[in-house]
Amino acid sequence: MPSTPIYLDHHSTTPCDPRVVERMLPYFTETFGNPAAITHEYGRRAATALEEARTAAADFLRARPNEIFFTAGATESNNLAIFGIMREAGDHMITSEIEHKSILAPAARLEAAGFEVTRLRPDPEGFISPAELAAAIRENTRLVSIMAANGEIGTLQPLSELAAVCREANVPFHTDATQAVGKVPVDVSEIECDLLSLSAHKLYGPKGIGALFVRRGVRFDSPMRGGGQEKNVRPGTVNVPGAVGLAAALEFRAREMATEAIQLTELRNRLWEHIVRSIPQTSVYGPRGLRLPGNLNVSFDRVEAEPLMHSMRRFSLSSGSACSSGDREPSHVLRAIGVSDTRAMESVRIGLGASTTQEDVDLLADDLELSVGRLRQIAGVR
Ligand code: PMP
Repeated sequence: MPSTPIYLDHHSTTPCDPRVVERMLPYFTETFGNPAAITHEYGRRAATALEEARTAAADFLRARPNEIFFTAGATESNNLAIFGIMREAGDHMITSEIEHKSILAPAARLEAAGFEVTRLRPDPEGFISPAELAAAIRENTRLVSIMAANGEIGTLQPLSELAAVCREANVPFHTDATQAVGKVPVDVSEIECDLLSLSAHKLYGPKGIGALFVRRGVRFDSPMRGGGQEKNVRPGTVNVPGAVGLAAALEFRAREMATEAIQLTELRNRLWEHIVRSIPQTSVYGPRGLRLPGNLNVSFDRVEAEPLMHSMRRFSLSSGSACSSGDREPSHVLRAIGVSDTRAMESVRIGLGASTTQEDVDLLADDLELSVGRLRQIAGVR
């Protein structure tokens, strides 16, 4: 048995690539200046590094550098996007039932303050319908926010079509692309979205740094006030090592993502087939195609996820979203696609990543077969 568990929770976070860490190191000690302190060389060097990182992030997304704002991560980007656009009580926002809590909780807060919120229901595979979005847009709709990829069931939304509906109605379109960036191509020129959130720690970069893309011309009034950094979209001394790390992570992703996506899709499908073949009464959630390469979400009838994961300690797995895995509530995503609470409590999320090998997925499938069989036997199920 390996001494450290095999990491299969890449939707929750990813290990920081050592090449990224290496790029960041000088910005903690040598080039440590405050990029706003440009009266001296220390500050100017940091400012240069920051602007290079901004250009790299913009290049990756095919945006302009002055449309990229560094934040502390996707939760902050999502909050800024929502509160920066939604201004007057009575205004209407559209989102979906399967968003991350960093969208759903700000939306609920707006609602409590007298704004109107529509949450679109996905189809059973997790897709949001552009036609249903079009029908939900009203005269007072000020923002549409639909995630690019779901971190639980892997669904990749038809972003260009959703954005086109919004453009037609002249409503800004935001996408939380936290799970998509670095895994599948995300290009703001092609999608034609107006705002986009991302986070470095999901793409082999450091924690605590992310970005918000705001298209030039979008009327945006940040809820934050401070010293004017990041054009006041996100004031506060910028995390320069983090920004350098995010840029480096994006650079490596640009080079390696396509090959990795093919490998991960193969491994994921191998695992999927192996599990379904060897374990009776298994359900798989989310679509077969148009899915995050490394994502699989399965449940085994009459076997709760918690004891199952407990019996499979040599793997790091997750039930539902890591952010809510402490509270034992059935996943809101699975509920939204029509999965019963009983099945949802049995669901296990598997997130393959750069380090995952064929041996890992074969071991996992074998262990699942054994553990599910044992737990069913204990429970008196055949
Ligand atoms: N959005 C999505 C879709 C996510 O999966 C996550 C992370 N679980 C977040 C936002 C929040 O990201 P961060 O941890 O960078 O705040």
